[in-house]
Amino acid sequence: MTNKEKTELYSNKIKLELSIRLSSAEYMLWIHPLIPHSVFANQMTFIAPSENAANTLLSHYGELFCTVSRSIGLPVDDFVFMTKSQLEKSGDYTEEKENKEEKISEERKNPFVAKYTFENFVIADNNRFASVAAQTVAQSPGSNANLLTLNPLYIYGGVGLGKTHLLHAIGNYLFEHNPNMNVIYTTAEKISNDYFASLNQYSTDKDSYRNFRKKYSQCDVLMVDDVQFMQKKGGLQEVFFHIFNDLYINGKQIVLSSDRPPKEINDIEDRLRSRFESGIMTDISAPSLDTRINIIKKKLSSSNQTLDDDIICYLAEKVNTNIRELEGALLKIIMLCNLTHRKPTMEIAKEALKEKESEYTEQIDSDKIINYVSDYYRIPASDIIGKKKTKDIVEARMVAIYLVCEMLNLPLVSIGQIFGGRDHTTIIYSRDKIAGQIAANKGVSKAVEDIRSAIKCG
Ligand code: ADP
Ligand code: MG
Repeated sequence: MTNKEKTELYSNKIKLELSIRLSSAEYMLWIHPLIPHSVFANQMTFIAPSENAANTLLSHYGELFCTVSRSIGLPVDDFVFMTKSQLEKSGDYTEEKENKEEKISEERKNPFVAKYTFENFVIADNNRFASVAAQTVAQSPGSNANLLTLNPLYIYGGVGLGKTHLLHAIGNYLFEHNPNMNVIYTTAEKISNDYFASLNQYSTDKDSYRNFRKKYSQCDVLMVDDVQFMQKKGGLQEVFFHIFNDLYINGKQIVLSSDRPPKEINDIEDRLRSRFESGIMTDISAPSLDTRINIIKKKLSSSNQTLDDDIICYLAEKVNTNIRELEGALLKIIMLCNLTHRKPTMEIAKEALKEKESEYTEQIDSDKIINYVSDYYRIPASDIIGKKKTKDIVEARMVAIYLVCEMLNLPLVSIGQIFGGRDHTTIIYSRDKIAGQIAANKGVSKAVEDIRSAIKCG
């Protein structure tokens, strides 16, 4: 198969999957216009119709592309969106790609997200210690000679608050200042996949497992994002424990991130937990209004855009926890202005936030959602959060979990607590199960829509 054929094939598979997962309007606006350009190693490039579209795709849909790619078993987890003219400028838009690709692979490519730098990170009270620690690590990774070592550096906090950004910032800094260092950024999920793949390949390739161990134990800096997802099964944690020790003993830097502190990760071996706790732990909490305003201003100035202060304040007040959503809302305003050739006004800002409006203004909380589900299914709320497993109750419970995940911006662990102390993996399972059924099962999809509109109306 030529690269061109491979690219087409991957693109078709990904687009098909996205057409199922996204609303048709969203699909037609963002995904349909994309032209597949190339696949190179784990990176896939698409041509986007405009720079704005390329930016939105990266910030808004980048993770979804990775998730989808993983879920359909494609070996790409890095998606690049560029306009045709950006590609031409980068000298990467020629037909004789295959030769070129080999050349690129000889030079080292920066594997880190370019915009996730320290310069682009707004430091404030909610993240001051974490960002200073990350910068220190970037400047002197693994310096075990000091009495006070930042090894491992463990950063935790809720979704969309900048953990991945900081990890990539360390990577970008080292790529620039210490280009010969072998710096690995990975996620717990990816390292798990690598490990199990190496075991599966063992029958045909006796070196597969050794190569896996070597890759991770012989790097200079190992960053593992979202370690709460490190699976306990199959000896993975034991292997990771040894990798950790190899690195640590050799004075190599380890950086970990998670949505919670080690002591709150249930599914982890004690000895690994105590390793995680043995360096510096620091949390990132929700940003204050001032910080949110500063973040919006920084994002605007780095993309040469401007907005009136009252619009900035409106946005910062409405979207008050997750910075990823804040960026999404901001992009939506800019896109709306570009699409309709209007100047940004408060009306446009309100229009852009319309879908989210009810989420942010009317007080929707988990009790309200559970009560509506309870009314709809005629099942007591106590059974919805309880342990009974009859078919109706299980369906109602999963629908309630799905709606809480969709409508409220809460960490999975908290949602688990709301639903009678269930583990976050159960929450993910229920959420994804209902998401899947919405496409396939009319009854479930109608229930979800009816309940959602009832909640929004009031
Ligand atoms: P997490 O990994 O904690 O879920 P991310 O690192 O993916 O969150 O951050 C979500 C988005 O918010 C990213 O686009 C990131 O650049 C942005 N962001 C988060 N915190 C800040 C900050 N302090 N300054 C600038 N951007 C931020
Ligand atoms: Mg992250």
